[in-house]
Amino acid sequence: MTSDHGYPAVRMYIAGEWCQGGTGRTAPIVNPATEEAIGEVPLATTDDLDRALAGAAEGFRAWRDTPVARRTALLHAAADLLTERSAEVGRIMTLEQGKPLAEATGEARRVADTLRWHADDARRAYGRIIPSAPGTLLSVRREPIGPVAAFVPWNFPAGGPMRKISSALCAGCSIIIKASEETPATAAALVGCFVDAGLPAGALNLVFGEPAEVSAHLIASPVTRLIAFTGSVPVGKLLAAAAGEVMKPSLMELGGHAPVIVCADADPARAARRAAQAKFANAGQVCTSPSRFLVHERLVEDFTAEFVKAAEAVVVGDGLAEGTTMGPLANERRLQAVQRLTADAVSRGATVRTGGERLDRAGYFFAPTVLTDVPADADLLHEEPFGPLAPIVPFGDLDEALTTANALPYGLAAYGFTESAATAEHLVRELEAGILSVNHCGGSVSEAPSGGVKESGYGREGGPEALDAYLITKRVSHLLA
Ligand code: NAD
Repeated sequence: MTSDHGYPAVRMYIAGEWCQGGTGRTAPIVNPATEEAIGEVPLATTDDLDRALAGAAEGFRAWRDTPVARRTALLHAAADLLTERSAEVGRIMTLEQGKPLAEATGEARRVADTLRWHADDARRAYGRIIPSAPGTLLSVRREPIGPVAAFVPWNFPAGGPMRKISSALCAGCSIIIKASEETPATAAALVGCFVDAGLPAGALNLVFGEPAEVSAHLIASPVTRLIAFTGSVPVGKLLAAAAGEVMKPSLMELGGHAPVIVCADADPARAARRAAQAKFANAGQVCTSPSRFLVHERLVEDFTAEFVKAAEAVVVGDGLAEGTTMGPLANERRLQAVQRLTADAVSRGATVRTGGERLDRAGYFFAPTVLTDVPADADLLHEEPFGPLAPIVPFGDLDEALTTANALPYGLAAYGFTESAATAEHLVRELEAGILSVNHCGGSVSEAPSGGVKESGYGREGGPEALDAYLITKRVSHLLA
């Protein structure tokens, strides 16, 4: 069933059944481009969560014991369904999250590719035989860790859930995923592809609810064996601490505040165009979004002029409208946060070179914004903006810029622009980050790992490293005689 807006009715998927949840409690889903409620998301009760836990325990045994070739074939079938449905998934995503339709549809297609990549990689989760004494077989095996509890946010409504679902299922784990209550229909559409491909009941469960209640219950349960979270640093610390209480491993993909260092020998206009394109993608609501622009003082005016030009060329509007290149912020909290960060910077002496304001219309729209003269103590230079704000700060000495870049507790992404291979290597060695790009702002790809250092978290998603958290290692010594 769909609403007037063409937005589907949202249900949870627990132990092989689509359901509304025990008490019928719901929360509204808002289209951020219009501020209108477009649907309702069901909220799980403790009983619903207990059914999901029991389902995941059973689903784990069924899925783990499914031959790997069959698992791979089924996951490829789910990926094919998602590719077929990508236009519809993209439309739902734009309605509930706001990003332009082309970005949303592209995300749906990309995550189908992520699933295919992991499905194939799972066939190579090899153990090894270790030379030992005659008559003794010493081996190392890698086995699925067990049922996973995963929590994902709203900025990539398909990408967030798929990273966790694909890693868990490919490793042979079952999973209970609590997707964002703000973007639930995209997650449900993804789950629908696995269900229609024939996944055994319980292998994949989708719930929504009060985030703190759901995470407390699922983390404390002895059924779950891995906690996987994507979101903010403060929530990540809470969940990691709760997992630590019961000695459960966790995978933490947290926020960042990515520095971009534009060295004296870089082409400032090219650097500005490439950095601006990454800055305004998904309205800046990306954990790896470039967010502190440290530019050599000789280049700073040319860089700023080109960056302002690129910001003013961004077409802000409803993601469903033709020609839109940046949608609204995904929720009112983000709008208020970017308004607060801008006002704080300006009150401390920053100059708004373009933007700086909410657009005068319904929806959580904020103009692409470039700020200069931002003092070092402005909140914007310390707090992850997670929005379309670009503070540009000049530097004279590269080591000074590196010290500034590394000064924050974050360590997710970092970017450098230089014509010199030696300077590039220096940046790559010195920048404290898990994801580095030189002379562009590279996005994530299925075949390479993403993840942070310092307070940006631990563990990696993507690439062969993605399976590490989802597999345990067993040493087996077998005396044959
Ligand atoms: P938030 O910290 O309230 O929530 C972040 C996510 O965690 C949401 O999906 C939320 O539902 C979930 N969450 C919150 N409390 C939880 C709990 N106790 N148990 C389980 N899940 C819980 O922030 P927000 O307003 O939704 O987003 C703002 C900030 O979050 C941004 O500034 C950014 O730093 C961070 N964020 C990071 C990413 C990322 O990809 N790393 C994605 C989205 C948001």
